[in-house]
Order: sequence, then C-alpha cells, then structure tokens
Amino acid sequence: MQGELIDGVPVLWTEEPGPFEAVLIFGGGILDEPLAVRGAMRLVAHLAESALPRRNHPSRDWQDLESTYFTASGSPEQVTRYLDGICRALTRLPLHRLAHEAEVLGTTDLSPVSEVAQNLLWGRYGHSGPGSANHEGPGLHGVSAEEVRSAAARVFHRDNAALVLTGPPPEGLRLPLPAGERPAVRAAAPEVITGAVWFPSDVPDPGMSWSGDPGDPALLLSHYLFRERLVQALRHRNGLSHEIRDVHLPLGPGRAEFIFWPDSREGHEQRVAELMWQEALRLASEDPTEAELAREVTAYRERAATVERPVDELLEAAGCLLVDRDYQDLEARLESLAQVAPEQLRTAFATALKTAVVTVPNGLHLELPQLDGRPVPQLTCNAYGDPAPGTVFRPKRTDRLRYRDLRGAQLVLTDDGIWHRAALDDIHYVAFAEASALIECGNGRLLLGGTHCVIDVDENLYPGAARASAAADAAVPPRLRFRAPGFREE
Ligand SMILES: [Zn+2]
Repeated sequence: MQGELIDGVPVLWTEEPGPFEAVLIFGGGILDEPLAVRGAMRLVAHLAESALPRRNHPSRDWQDLESTYFTASGSPEQVTRYLDGICRALTRLPLHRLAHEAEVLGTTDLSPVSEVAQNLLWGRYGHSGPGSANHEGPGLHGVSAEEVRSAAARVFHRDNAALVLTGPPPEGLRLPLPAGERPAVRAAAPEVITGAVWFPSDVPDPGMSWSGDPGDPALLLSHYLFRERLVQALRHRNGLSHEIRDVHLPLGPGRAEFIFWPDSREGHEQRVAELMWQEALRLASEDPTEAELAREVTAYRERAATVERPVDELLEAAGCLLVDRDYQDLEARLESLAQVAPEQLRTAFATALKTAVVTVPNGLHLELPQLDGRPVPQLTCNAYGDPAPGTVFRPKRTDRLRYRDLRGAQLVLTDDGIWHRAALDDIHYVAFAEASALIECGNGRLLLGGTHCVIDVDENLYPGAARASAAADAAVPPRLRFRAPGFREE
C-alpha cells in the first residue's frame, strides 16, 4: 500500500488488475448525525452527485455508520474527472434542487444496517447512538437547506477526507476541497444494556450479538470460528438455515458489535435461536482445537486474497486514518490471529457472551441458560412502579367502553416527565431530562426516552393531553425536537 498527499488529502493506493476504481471517503456517518438532522449528510452527497454532467461509467454515493463515500470506476481520465467534479460540487451545492433530490432519495432504502441488526443495536443502546441507526428522523424533506449547508461545512472538507485508488494517482488528479476543521474523535456511545438479555421484536429471523473490542485477535477469531460452527449446526446438521449472515460493526474506539442473523426456515425461528445459543455456550465453555483455529486463520487469509478485498483493505486503512484508529495491515493481522491459543479464544468469547443480546420474532419465547446457569432475562423497559402523582389524562369514556385494552390506560404529566400506564402492570416513563427525541406528529407527540421507553402523547386518545405536549415542548431542548416525516398541519 502506498500513500501521498494530493491537495492536502491523504491518498492510499495499491496496484491492482482490472478497472481503475476510486473511493473518496469523508469521516462522518449516521452515528455523527443527531436524529433531528438525520439525512443531512446523505443529501449533501446526493446533491453533489446530481450536479455532475452525464457519466458513462459507474459511480455512486453511500453512507454507513461512520463514513460517507463517493465511488467511481472507469478509465483513469473518467475517474479523475469525476473526483474533480465531486470536490467542486461539494463547495457549491445546488441547494435549489434540495426538495427534488429529497424526493428522489426518499424512494431508496437508506437503512445502513439490516433489520435484525438494528433491533439488536436498539436492545443494547436504546433510542440513542447506534440504537437509532435506522431511524429516519424528520425524513429527508424535513432537513433544511441551512442544515445541509452546515453538514457540508462540518464534514465534507479536505481535513476530514481520504481517497483510495486501485492504481497510482493519474497525472493531473486534483481534489479541490475547501479546508475545514478536523472533527473530534467520536466517543463510543454509552451502552444501556451491559448484561445478557433476550427480547421479541418485529424481525423476520432470529439474531444475536455481543459487544467487544474488534482489535482483540482472540475475540475476532472467535467470531469466525462461531460462524463456522453455525454453518455446521444450522445448515449442515439441522438444515434450518441457508445463509449465516454476520458482521462486526465498529462503534467507536475499542468497541464493536458482533452480529449474527442466520436466515431461518419458516416456523423454525425459535429452534434456530436456541441452536445458536447452544453453540455459543459450547464455544464459551470448551476450548476449540488447535486445528480449528488454524483452519480459521487459513480461511481468513484466503478470503483476503479474493478480488473484492484490495478495495476493502484500502478502505479499512483510510477509515482508520479518519477516526484515528491504529491500522494493522493484513500480514500483521494474520500474524496476531495465528498467535491466539485455544484457551485464550474461549476466555475472550466467554467474556463477550456475558453481553449477549438475542432477539426472536414477536410471539416467540426463549428460555436460555447463561454460563453460570442463571436464565438470560427478558429485556423490558417496563420496570416502573405506579406513576408519580401529577395531572392524569384518561381516554374518552366511549373509547374506554369500546376498547377493553384502554380501561386502565392513563397518561400522567409530572413536573419532570410523562408516565404512560398502558395497562395495570404495563407502565412506562420518560423524564424530560433524559429524552433522546421529541417528535411532533399529527396527533400529538412521541417522546423517546434515553433507554427503551417511548411515550405516545396521543391527543386524540387522551383529551386534554395537549397540555402534556406543551410541557414536553417547553422542557425538551430544541435540538432534540423535530416533526415526523410527512407531518401536516391539521
Ligand atoms: Zn417503556
């Protein structure tokens, strides 16, 4: 891998066969975008792409949790022209086209992580940080030109950029980006759940994750060995899954979420979750063999040699540069993986398993033993006693008579928050001071707590609850407030 600076931007490249490819990366992704302005960076990237003249080679922009990317492949001349065009467009965005581009982008799926992964992240982080990765915030139409301009100035500049190329930089390559201020290193978000839990959610397949340091070779190798064990158990022995999907998502310094969500034959979701847990317990309690570890190191080496990898490797190095993470090259990584002893792997995995989050489709129930024999508890936000004294709002009498569910329902407004008693023993609470968002909807407000609670201040259901909405508006800081996508004034 070679590197140089072009117009102040670090450029990393290796000489690869095949079409010339470039990826321009900016250090800023979903994790850096508060819910109230979610989508601003996507709009910057998309507006810049839309400003370019017709191109007859592949190019696109995309975003993940940590970064925003522009990629193009073609002849060196085409790619050079593309990069020059993008850099220039970023400094003078066609903001008059904002509404139009929001419309166009709105038709595509912008979820950065899979549905199951999103639910697992929500389980660990609640409504904040990675827990809200797939939340659309105010929707792209709710992001103002001012917010787009501010995102462009904050993120899309040469002091927060890197370029990777699958060949030497072409003659005349320029990256005319403005100067800017390097953003502070993103801190890892606080984990709301630190012990093992399970919960049912609106997912098609079961999923499981744990939290740990992706720089720990023993933990990394345990991820790959666990995947292989799942292939054996779920696919080959039991024929319940076709594909074992997995990822480890970096979520800040020394932190990643290791996620597995095998597909499941319909009707066997519970069994898949149980087998997955069984394999996890086995890996956490019995040392693997030396031969198994050696096979995983070999597999890692072989995967790294496939055609997809050079760009991934360059992106990994560039990503490390942008978030001030240490980069280890492939040989160094292989070397440290090869040093992992069986017992070391088991211990690392057993520690990580204490942080396991498991989800299954709604309606299923899991009884999973932990390593120490205690059951894995079910995640519930509903851990509150009776609502504190305050102003009580009840559904209309006619609604209470008509809908059995609503008989005991009430909203209670206190000085510091709002309680919701959905049923006798189903009680939720969000303190204004801990709110992660306040969303204005057609029928009132949605108050998202710092953990898992959501209070639906439904003014149609609870007459007089406009007072609770007004109290929330006054107490929750403006930067956490926004209108739901598609909001219309009544
Ligand atoms: Zn709750």
